[in-house]
Amino acid sequence: MQIIDGKATAATIKAEIKAEVESMTANGAKRPHLAAILVGHDGGSLTYVKNKVLACEACGFKSTLIHLEDNTTEEELLQHVDRLNQDPDVDGFIVQLPLPSHISEQKVIEAIDYRKDVDGFHPVNVGRMAIGLPCFISATPKGIMELLRRYEVPTSGKKCVVLGRSNIVGRPMAQLMMQKEYGDSTVTVCHSHSANLREECQQADIIIAAIGRPGFVTADMVKPGATIIDVGTTRVPDVSRKQGFRLCGDVDFEHVSPLCTAITPVPGGVGPMTICMLMQNTLAAAKHTYYPG
Ligand code: NAP
Repeated sequence: MQIIDGKATAATIKAEIKAEVESMTANGAKRPHLAAILVGHDGGSLTYVKNKVLACEACGFKSTLIHLEDNTTEEELLQHVDRLNQDPDVDGFIVQLPLPSHISEQKVIEAIDYRKDVDGFHPVNVGRMAIGLPCFISATPKGIMELLRRYEVPTSGKKCVVLGRSNIVGRPMAQLMMQKEYGDSTVTVCHSHSANLREECQQADIIIAAIGRPGFVTADMVKPGATIIDVGTTRVPDVSRKQGFRLCGDVDFEHVSPLCTAITPVPGGVGPMTICMLMQNTLAAAKHTYYPG
């Protein structure tokens, strides 16, 4: 059984990005610049954004954090988005989700210039991804594809079961695993209304679990030799930890891992790759890789 080490892979990729940035700037190009808008004081979101700023530093990027109060109106937020759209120094930016309930997330996502949408959530990027055109691909599925590639997990012609159909993970993941240029797998998507989820999993060569239910995938659901990608990161209360919680994946790692060919741990698997792919998208934005001109 091989552990797919997302933390080590992400460190390697960040070093590769930093080397490229140093070479770009030595040749006169400006440093890639990622901006982030955070609305409110949600603990999880603060941590994510802080980690994104740290990743920018590790990659040699410039970063800007715009931190707004909870009571920011939708109109004010849209004005910030517009300013970043217009700012020639900003290559890419993100609006950290979730947003307070009085703001329409979809409206905000659609207000972002798709050429700066390094989260890959704008319908133009989602649509281009779906038909296999160059675009910003959302960071979590992109990171999983990168792990599968770097660990040389065979995917072509394999049966892949994706658990979950959210816009940020399950849906794009299934698209990528299906596409000839990426996974080239035979893909089944299961969700909360799937009648035969267990049987689908039992036949899968690859299971990608993204439902947010700790320990949901148990040993009796896994075919011996399967590869398991665990996207789940649920905070489970744990008084023995300094933060008062521990992160739990969607897979019962202890009992499933001995059966597998390869598996991602939680933490240290998919999570570190997500921020790293945001950095890769920002570098691509700075280089106008997907949208020249
Ligand atoms: P989400 O928007 O809540 O979607 C969850 C999906 O799982 C839905 O499609 C839902 O089905 C399905 N589901 C829920 N309970 C189920 C059950 N008992 N059986 C079958 N399907 C079930 O969640 P998300 O944003 O995709 O995130 C999923 C997990 O990944 C969370 O733990 C999240 O924290 C984690 N995550 C991690 C990263 C990372 O970087 N590591 C990034 C993003 C998300 P319905 O559609 O029928 O409701």
